[in-house]
Amino acid sequence: CSETKTFHSLRPPVTLPPETTPLSAASYALSLQLTSPWPNPTALINSATGRHLSYSEFAKQTKTLAASLQNLTGLSKGDTAFILSPNSTQIPILYCSLLSLGIIISPANPASTEAEISRQIKLSKPLIAFAVSSTCHKLPTMRYRTILIDSPEFESMLSSSSRELCPPVEVSQSDIAAIMYSSGTTGQVKGVMLTHRNLIAIVGIFLAQRLERESPEVLLYTVPYFHVFGFFYSVKSVALSETVVVMERFDLRKMLRAVEEFRVTDVAVAPPVLVAMTKGDVRDGYDLRSLDKVGCGGAPLGKDVIRTFTTKFPGVLLCQGYGLTETTGSAFRAVGPEESLRWGSVGRLNANCEAKLVDPDAGVALPPGNQGELWIRGPLVMKGYIGNPKETSETLVGDGWLRTGDLCYIDEEGFLYVVDRLKELIKYKGYQVPPAELEQLLLSHLEIDDAAVIPYPDEEAGEVPMACVVRRPQSSLDEAQVVEFVAKQVAPYKKIRRVAFTSFIPKSPAGKILRKELRKIFSGPLSRL
Ligand code: AMP
Repeated sequence: CSETKTFHSLRPPVTLPPETTPLSAASYALSLQLTSPWPNPTALINSATGRHLSYSEFAKQTKTLAASLQNLTGLSKGDTAFILSPNSTQIPILYCSLLSLGIIISPANPASTEAEISRQIKLSKPLIAFAVSSTCHKLPTMRYRTILIDSPEFESMLSSSSRELCPPVEVSQSDIAAIMYSSGTTGQVKGVMLTHRNLIAIVGIFLAQRLERESPEVLLYTVPYFHVFGFFYSVKSVALSETVVVMERFDLRKMLRAVEEFRVTDVAVAPPVLVAMTKGDVRDGYDLRSLDKVGCGGAPLGKDVIRTFTTKFPGVLLCQGYGLTETTGSAFRAVGPEESLRWGSVGRLNANCEAKLVDPDAGVALPPGNQGELWIRGPLVMKGYIGNPKETSETLVGDGWLRTGDLCYIDEEGFLYVVDRLKELIKYKGYQVPPAELEQLLLSHLEIDDAAVIPYPDEEAGEVPMACVVRRPQSSLDEAQVVEFVAKQVAPYKKIRRVAFTSFIPKSPAGKILRKELRKIFSGPLSRL
């Protein structure tokens, strides 16, 4: 019976608010903060200026901004706001305001090109955009209003004391809270619909697993707010009454200085930052005694890096987590000292969730201990891809199961190990690079007959996109020209960084690129996976 092959979370079930109660993720987080057993006055610290914002000021600004948005923009529940901004202390306030109004948040990577942004906007159909002076030129000619987050206008929207507060908006938990961009298991970018319930569930689950500590937690994020990792953390930190040190752009030395200056206890990073932390004498000259945990997720982490990190930072817990945009950013994670010691594993299944491992060819669930495609079910799983019923039904299958596209196994104690990626996805420094998008660009080159893009292992970035190119007869196209052709058309993190010229691209009888074959020939196993 397939149910015996379903793996239930070993963590105690977490009681969440009844699903039918109207509740926005912002109201839930702010009410938990107010009644927190770990009261903590400071919500946010700007790492560059050292400016602190208290939780009472945070709650006040969130309300004032919501009122300003209602009064000045006429936005209402169900409208979508596109956000194109680097990290700043204004972002979590903006997120909470929008969530409290039932306005859908759609944040994108500010490094995206205009063409990439146009594609995202086509999916999410925003009525308003929030950008900063350095990113607003990338927005397509607006039929909608644009507000600059770094302008006096926005500042006044946060602080107007005379602003009339509007009546609260009734938000259902099943309402969409965010549209985040992901390529899923195949093809072009898609808009992942996450609901308020998804966020409420992740917050409730993290709250239940919070470890006791004497002083309030001070977190530093190097992860971006536009990625699901930074997005759900922004709401989770409010609910858990954590102080968040915000860095606008990552710089290792500035990060270590901020840890020392603000007595940071916990940093949230993607693998490349962890790799950088293991290099040379990087920690010398900083007092990092406050630091007791580093949370790392979003991409695989090599065992050597873990080993070096634990030698260099003795006493600092390294807790890995695994998740997808489609699971609100978290599915498995290591909690506490004992679980963090399982090197190579990404932790145990979150409470209230189920998993199974499915034979990728036969499509049947496998008994425990076997390797298969990981499927996940539970309150963290997305509602679907916006405007894309076909991809939704191929990803959400059966009775609410999400196909992750990752080849994994779970050991007898419930720890997950990610073995390989079955889906067409490259992760450069934790960012998604969809091969299909780059292949389409390559095929538009007059001197390219055929092309495929595969991941190539890289110590610093995890993986880099490698193009396998079949040149037209007589073409003398070289590596630099291929790299430049693509680089001009994509965000910097999507650039092709290696090229191999080949005489043919192996394909299945149905015309599907046989990426495994190409990887065997050109890039070998992804040693980190
Ligand atoms: P994203 O939607 O950008 O968060 O990407 C999700 C994908 O990143 C997953 O399906 C995995 O392939 C990969 N991933 C995330 N976390 C980890 C991890 N801790 N170890 C290995 N791969 C990971």
